[in-house]
Amino acid sequence: MKILLVEDEAGLILTLTDRLHSEGFDVKTAADGEAGLSLALSENFDLIILDVMLPRKNGLDVCRDLRQKAIATPILMLTAKGETIDKVIGLKLGADDYLTKPFEVIELFARIEALLRRSPNTSQSSIDTFRFGDVSIDFRRAVVKKENVPIELSALEFKLLQYLIEHRGSVHSRNKLLDEVWGYDAMPTTRTVDVHIAWLRQKLEDNPKHPQFIQTVHGFGYKFTA
Ligand code: CA
Repeated sequence: MKILLVEDEAGLILTLTDRLHSEGFDVKTAADGEAGLSLALSENFDLIILDVMLPRKNGLDVCRDLRQKAIATPILMLTAKGETIDKVIGLKLGADDYLTKPFEVIELFARIEALLRRSPNTSQSSIDTFRFGDVSIDFRRAVVKKENVPIELSALEFKLLQYLIEHRGSVHSRNKLLDEVWGYDAMPTTRTVDVHIAWLRQKLEDNPKHPQFIQTVHGFGYKFTA
């Protein structure tokens, strides 16, 4: 497994590189946003750890650029204490998870494991392609298009969509979705599910306020109907 670490604090780079190596990961580092972006575009990584406050180009811009270029690698953002707005924006721009500094290395590894588990590149989908309305999905390549235009989904949004489609017709509670899609119960709350459902609707539904496919079942949760 290959990890890209984009971080400008020399001490943290040293500690994390060391710990990641000892866990058997192959690690490449970049100390500013521009260098991180070009590495992420030129090589394949299984995971990107991306600091928000970086010289030359901040982590949020790097994240947005990567998703715009259809790089679906899971991204774990590192934010400084109190950067709440950055977390929300980061997730909206296509990051998959975030961790607030200072953090315990064991917490970092829990997040890394969860992200690698739910990466679309490693998941075994029971179906290859799926269509609904004017949306088409290629599960093998993790490509989603609406009216033939590629749509940027985070790895997590993709996994959620995939789960709903594979279990279409069934109603899923928010807790069930957290268990199945997020896969660990450290941080996310049921509100997280609502937020990601809302983003999927924004990106895929013709009228997100009156969703045709990703439906709310009041008092129970969500279901996908095609
Ligand atoms: Ca920094």
